This record gives sequence, structure tokens and C-alpha cells, in this order.
Amino acid sequence: MRAAPLGVRCGPLAVVRPADAGQVAGVVRLAAQHGLAVYPISTGKNWGYGDACAVGAGQVLLDLSRMNRIHHVDTELAYAVIEPGVTQRQLSSYLREHGDLLWADCTGAGPDTSYIGNIMERGFGHSPHGNRLQHVAGMQIVMADGELLETGFGHYHGAKTTHLFPYGVGPFLDGLFTQSNLGVVTRLGIWLMPKAACVNHFLYSVPEHADIAAVVDALRPLRLDGTLRSIVHIGNDMRVISGGMVFPRAQVPQGSRLPEAARAALCAGGDIAPWTVSGALYGSDARWRPRVRRCGARYAACRDGCVSSASAACALAPWSAAAWAKAAPGAACVPAWRSANRCSP
Ligand SMILES: Cc1cc2nc3c(=O)[nH]c(=O)nc-3n(C[C@H](O)[C@H](O)[C@H](O)COP(=O)(O)OP(=O)(O)OC[C@H]3O[C@@H](n4cnc5c(N)ncnc54)[C@H](O)[C@@H]3O)c2cc1C
Repeated sequence: MRAAPLGVRCGPLAVVRPADAGQVAGVVRLAAQHGLAVYPISTGKNWGYGDACAVGAGQVLLDLSRMNRIHHVDTELAYAVIEPGVTQRQLSSYLREHGDLLWADCTGAGPDTSYIGNIMERGFGHSPHGNRLQHVAGMQIVMADGELLETGFGHYHGAKTTHLFPYGVGPFLDGLFTQSNLGVVTRLGIWLMPKAACVNHFLYSVPEHADIAAVVDALRPLRLDGTLRSIVHIGNDMRVISGGMVFPRAQVPQGSRLPEAARAALCAGGDIAPWTVSGALYGSDARWRPRVRRCGARYAACRDGCVSSASAACALAPWSAAAWAKAAPGAACVPAWRSANRCSP
């Protein structure tokens, strides 16, 4: 059995590992007959949001990791139909080995996490498809009574647009099954994006807490006018600390949160700034250059005008430089917006 990442013991009544939607339906029906709660996990690596274990003891843990088939990838219409056990690594490898034309969105949660598990939690990735639920069409769901529900146009036998247009006709149901445990999703269509000619990642630190408002103001127009199409992640020091290490229980009184002194020491030791911002510019070489120029201008305005801090806002702190070197070995790493990854500015 998997260990509980949060250290809380919620012993399941049973762990079942079905091979297909029919077996999921059988388990759910049986559990309903006996009044048992069912808790689904796709790959069970929900670190940060929850746990691999059920929220209470005595539940039936439905581990869907064996259901890891990529049913279909349509390279012309750019979507994949996948099962819950399909991981980021698996889909990425598949796409590379089959023409290397398309990319799937990616979270920072690691290669062996599930697309469907993350989507059920309404997780966010880092690319232009980072708002994942907005890039899904056509779910297959096992309901609490064991019935199979196909959402959108999947409702109609032989429909060709199930994974292209999420709404079908009538009420739009997909959102009901996220963050709810109202059904078990056994398959869905996820949209893919054409492999970009250029990607320019940026990762920068905001050295003064008060400056984050000006940084957000500087980024907003770039998101609104489409210059920045990636999801922009903005995290405080606690977000960066918790993403990089296990909670230091030995240094903290039982049951208490991280003391301020320990937090300050971790920030100082890791050169972690009050705020860290990441995102990326995507596009062809021709489209990408003006975008970098526009971001550069915005950065300069932010640094020279809007930001109260004496230190240059958004400068790449040493921690960010180290993280950048790790994330993109060999890539040029210079302050702010001109940190080229795949193309030279
Ligand atoms: C360093 C780090 C970075 C992270 N980065 C990100 C990030 O960038 N973006 C992000 O969103 N998250 C991130 N996370 C959080 C988390 O690890 C991911 O969201 C991860 O994908 C979730 O684990 P999983 O895919 O194994 O889902 P699971 O643990 O399998 O599922 C998550 C939950 O969804 C529900 N569920 C799962 N499968 C189904 C199903 N088939 N039908 C119905 N309900 C289901 C259940 O309630 C389950 O508990 C990060 C975590 C860490 C530690």
C-alpha cells in the first residue's frame, strides 16, 4: 500500500485496482450495495493538494493506475483520449515517438503524475493550456450507481465531435465532477498544442514584498493582450519553500505551523525572495521577438517607474539563477525577460 504523504493515517477497508471502466462500474455497484464510500485516485501523487489516502478511514480506495491506455491521438485535430493512469511522462514520450509535432501541457508536479487526477483537482500547468479543465472535451464517467455517463456529444453513439467541442447540447456537466467525487472519470479527451518553434521561459524573484502589486500590474496587460499566453505562476516564499523540501517537523513544535524564525532562516539559506514569478513566451521566431521586446519594455517600466524598492525589482536572484540552471541546463541565464531558452533574442 502507498504511504500517506501528509503523514495522516486513514487506513482503507480495501484497495482495488480495476483494469477498465467495466470493472470500475462493478466495484462502485458493489460498494453501493454495501453502503461503502469509494475514494478514487489516478496515480495518487496529490502532494500539496491532498493525499493518496482517503479523507476518512474504512473507505474503498479505487486505484486507477492500471488503466493507463492512450486510446487515441488525433495529430490533425490535436487531441488525445486518455485513461486515468496516463502520466505526464507517458503522454510526452508517446508524442515525441509519434512525429514530435504536438505538446501536452505540463505541471511542476513531476513526470509520474496523472493528467486526469490533476484535472479532477482543477490543477494548473505552465503552458498556454495550463488551465487544464478548459482544454478537455468529452468525459466518460462511472456514476455512483455504476451507470456509464458520456458527457458532451459523447452522449450520441458514433459522434465524431466528442473530443472537439466540450458542451454538446443541454447542460454542461464536466465541472460537476471536479473537486467533488460525484463520479469516477475513466476516460477523457485532452487538447494538445502544436510544438512551438520558440519557448522563452522566465523565472524571477521580487526582492521586496511590497513590489508584488506593481509586478502584477505590469504583467496584467501582457496577459490580456495575448503577449503572455502561458499561465503565470506567482508564489510567495512559503510556496517556494514547500515546493522544494519536506516540512521540517524536527524544527517545529508538534502541530504548529512553521515559526517565522525558521521561515526566515530557510529563505536566507536558499536565497528565496518574498515572491517568485514564472511564465513563458511561446511562438514562432517571427512572433516571439516582438513579444520579448514588449516584455522587456514592460519590465523596464516596472523597474524604473512603478516599483518603490531601491533594488531593481524582478532581478534574477541567485536562487532563481540556480533553479534556472537546473531546469534548463545550458540555457542562457540573464536577468529578467531576456533569459533565452530555445532561441536567441
Ligand atoms: C513540487 C510540487 C509541484 C507541484 N506542481 C503542481 C502544478 O504545477 N500544478 C498543479 O496543479 N499541481 C501541482 N502539484 C500538486 C499535485 O502534486 C498535482 O496536482 C498532481 O498531479 C496530483 O496528483 P495525481 O496526478 O497523482 O492525482 P491523484 O492523487 O490521483 O488524484 C487527485 C484527486 O483527484 C480525485 N480523482 C483522481 N482521479 C479521479 C478520477 N479518475 N475520477 C474522479 N476523481 C478523481 C481524487 O479526489 C484524488 O484524491 C505540485 C506538487 C508538488 C509537491
